[in-house]
Amino acid sequence: MGRQLTEEEIVNGTYDAIKHGEIYAVFQPQINHSTGRMVGAEALMRWRHPQLGMQFPAEFIAVLEAYDLIFEADLHMFEEVCKLLKHCMENNLPLVPISCNMSRYDIFQHDYVDRIEEIRKKYDIPVKYLRIEITESSAIGGMEGLKTALQKLHSYGYLVEMDDFGSGYSSLNILKDLDVDIIKLDMRFLDGNIGGRGGTIISSVVQMTKWLNTPVIAEGVETADQADYMESIGCYYIQGYLYSQPLSKDEFIEKLKTVDHEPMNEALNFVRAVDAGEFWDPNSMETLIFSNFVGAAAVLSYQNGELEILRVNKKYIRELGMNMDERSLINTNPWTSLDEDNKRIYENAIKRAIESGEEETCETKRVLCSKSCGDTEFWIRADIRVIGRAGDQYLLYTMIKNITSEKEKLLRIEENDRKLMAAGDQANVYAWEYYFSNKEMRPCFRCMRDLNLPPVIENYPEPLFENGVFPEDYREMYYNMLRELEEGRESSEAVIPLTVGRIPFHVRYTTEFDEAGKPLKAYGSAVMVVDEK
Ligand code: C2E
Ligand code: CA
Ligand code: CA
Repeated sequence: MGRQLTEEEIVNGTYDAIKHGEIYAVFQPQINHSTGRMVGAEALMRWRHPQLGMQFPAEFIAVLEAYDLIFEADLHMFEEVCKLLKHCMENNLPLVPISCNMSRYDIFQHDYVDRIEEIRKKYDIPVKYLRIEITESSAIGGMEGLKTALQKLHSYGYLVEMDDFGSGYSSLNILKDLDVDIIKLDMRFLDGNIGGRGGTIISSVVQMTKWLNTPVIAEGVETADQADYMESIGCYYIQGYLYSQPLSKDEFIEKLKTVDHEPMNEALNFVRAVDAGEFWDPNSMETLIFSNFVGAAAVLSYQNGELEILRVNKKYIRELGMNMDERSLINTNPWTSLDEDNKRIYENAIKRAIESGEEETCETKRVLCSKSCGDTEFWIRADIRVIGRAGDQYLLYTMIKNITSEKEKLLRIEENDRKLMAAGDQANVYAWEYYFSNKEMRPCFRCMRDLNLPPVIENYPEPLFENGVFPEDYREMYYNMLRELEEGRESSEAVIPLTVGRIPFHVRYTTEFDEAGKPLKAYGSAVMVVDEK
């Protein structure tokens, strides 16, 4: 008792073991962690050898595959599952969909799909109670066979699960190409704790699959912590020792009677602005556009104040002036570069975007801390729009522009203005601009305040004679002065007694010419003539 079968024993014994029921199915429930209800189960192969005892698939499946025996074993498993479902139906027992594992050799070398369909019909099982699990490794050596099989499975109405997602070969474009209905994430493929890097990978996979509208089952969940974590990132379906070991047929039937069940919820309803599947496919047009044509862009996830970067393109990183690859940027917390005030500004823009469904814009100051260069400050303008939603999780698309130099210029101008104004105040300077072409005068703030002028005066200087700022007896002289400037004189000055008080002001004009050398406008200033006694 208790030793493993040798390769020879496996090869020689398989058919008999199938015939005598030594190869049989056990069932592991799949549970919705947030409701405790069963949503399905997976059938797992066991071989109980009369002399050598229980054999586990890890030890014999590879041999079955190598000797082209897996096909018969898998069909046998499928039939066992149909028998169980039939039993439940005939005895009015509750039942849930059951997943069967398909080896990659089943479709490479055999007509697996047609054969299981025959079996299903023989037992008259509604197809909604049967799911097929495929693995990423089935895609090794070409997708065509797998694609065809998948289309066939779908055409008969089977739901297809991608088993062991993330275990190696699979990638986003496999997912996209394969159009599977459910994804299984195996917790055992993660090294380290779920809060760390593994957790980030899981949560981005879950987010990504939500984006693809695909439910996720977390497999190999052994602790409540793991299950709670998965739930917190929106993955409710759990298969693992936490809820149940694989159960014998009788134990499983008991479980069906005692545990409530519910259908698996498929549709997390995302508003689709772009074809979601296409978007994640590295070779798709959308990706091409995302990376090359849209400028600096990112896809973010926002949920109850939590912001996460899901995807950025190269231009985005360049715009931030960062020396980072896309992957490490995705793993940083986007809030860290924002102080409280700027975070509020940014988050408000997100909230506006959620409310309006339109593009919203904000400008925020960011600080990048770097060990080598010290802190760098920069300004980012972000246009944000909601492109998807599942519950209270929002997917945001943002385009950014680094506006640091613009902003600095603006701040400098404001600063200059302030200085000028202060200087003007002290020196009692009044300033304005006069446009030759349309006889418009634009006074400075002080002119407006002290002389009660509007921001734009038309038909200058007529109104200032009418309101008495300019004395009538200077009318001719002043008109001449402006005419000479208009005719090309570079500057001009005169003392003019202004306002009803006839206070002497030193008025100066300087002409600005356009590129063709034509006079464009004149800058005027007036300073009170100080009596130098
Ligand atoms: P799998 O499809 O990924 O199956 C899940 C495996 O994880 C099962 O191992 C299950 O017993 C185990 N498991 C479930 N919950 C936990 C947990 O909380 N912690 C741990 N550590 N393990 C857990 P099993 O039954 O030994 O099957 C191993 C593999 O053999 C399967 O991996 C599958 O790839 C293959 N296999 C099993 N049955 C079949 C079958 O009928 N046909 C084919 N082609 N392959 C099968
Ligand atoms: Ca499986
Ligand atoms: Ca698995």
